[in-house]
Amino acid sequence: MKKMINTLAGATALFVASSAIAASHDPAAIQAKALDDEIAYDITEGLTTEIGPRQAGTEAEARARAWSLKKLKALGFKNVRNEPFMMPTWVRGAETAEIVSPYPQKMHITALGNSASTGADGVEAEIVYFSSLAALQAVPDGSLAGKIAFVTHNMHRTQDGSGYGTYGPIRWVGPATASKKGAAAYVIKSIGTDYHRNPHTGGTGFPEGITPIPAAALSLPDADNLERMVKLGKPVRMKLVLTPQNIGQQESGNVIAEVPGRDPSKGMILVACHLDSWDLATGAFDDAAGCGIISAAAKYVMDNGQPLRTIRILWAGAEEVGIWGGKAYAKAHSGEKHAIAMESDFGADNVWRVEHKLPEGANSVKQQINKSLLPLGISTLGPPASGGADIRDIIASNNLAVIDLQQNGTRYFDLHHTPDDTLDKIDPEQLRQNVAAWSTVLAIIANSDADFTMPPKK
Ligand code: ZN
Ligand code: ZN
Repeated sequence: MKKMINTLAGATALFVASSAIAASHDPAAIQAKALDDEIAYDITEGLTTEIGPRQAGTEAEARARAWSLKKLKALGFKNVRNEPFMMPTWVRGAETAEIVSPYPQKMHITALGNSASTGADGVEAEIVYFSSLAALQAVPDGSLAGKIAFVTHNMHRTQDGSGYGTYGPIRWVGPATASKKGAAAYVIKSIGTDYHRNPHTGGTGFPEGITPIPAAALSLPDADNLERMVKLGKPVRMKLVLTPQNIGQQESGNVIAEVPGRDPSKGMILVACHLDSWDLATGAFDDAAGCGIISAAAKYVMDNGQPLRTIRILWAGAEEVGIWGGKAYAKAHSGEKHAIAMESDFGADNVWRVEHKLPEGANSVKQQINKSLLPLGISTLGPPASGGADIRDIIASNNLAVIDLQQNGTRYFDLHHTPDDTLDKIDPEQLRQNVAAWSTVLAIIANSDADFTMPPKK
């Protein structure tokens, strides 16, 4: 072989070979191949069927990690590993709610992550109704002593999921607010948009110095029922039993796999999802599908010849319960050269818009991405990209460029954090469109030698 290099035939063969590599990175060809994808569905099916619910820090999440390491190795990725870390772990106990008077009946409820326990005997108290978080925030500290604060909302379906940002604080900061007001417990209308009797769980937090109180979400129909009861004008009493526990520091871990690039000095492309789910569901939409999408896309790029840059796949081990995986990743890897970070964590429905946060110098790459995504029905005018929860810390610490492939979130909050987040909700055709979009973008950026360094933050 060495001898042939000196011959004309050898030189021609080399030329043909190198142009073949270049041609194989053609994003349109990779996109076409990805439109027949089965890998993303296979990963989603495997995680939801062979593992099921996998709350971070639990034995189920450890099984999920073992499954993932095996799967990513079998797909041919390199440097497949588990990077363990410790995290405070909260686990669900019993959870029941009933109206004691004046209209006795049971209600469907679930505890919010980090809720305190009521004790096995529960808490029975009068409901104080608030039509918004602002209304709760407006009452004096200590004024809700011995009461159960109840906050409702009017969140509706939107394509961009922006209702979550608007109404999410009812769950995120409402419990701590109610604690400051002296409430014995806190219940909300689930942060969701469906009308099943499935309550939506999700994390909350009690900052240092604020006493954790029992906090839970009613299903949307139950919350509306409670609102009607309150509006009839008589005092409404609820009995709430929630017995979650904090079980201390437990092990979780980030699963990492790589497609090594030809030039390790070029910054790598980080693609992320989260492996953990809430305990109520099998986490098909949130976020097994995301892990399927990013990994299938990385495989199509890998199979078409070694890319210029390394692609690193991060299946973060703990997102739902406090973004511990993303924090651990940034702590362990901020010293390494990253170029662009991307995350898929918004279900499995079609990508409808691409958003960028790229330096001016990478404008031609941005134009190429936009043009290459047009056949998939993806629009290109939007706000700057901001990334997902698991890459938030590495983006901040390393001032990274970001590309977001925004998924249609119209039905996302029907399913989010409920027992209904199951495999049957995945539409294989829309999942393939996601893989095609991701493959296209990865083929372009992993083979681009553009400088993606962001200007210093002001
Ligand atoms: Zn998620
Ligand atoms: Zn989630």
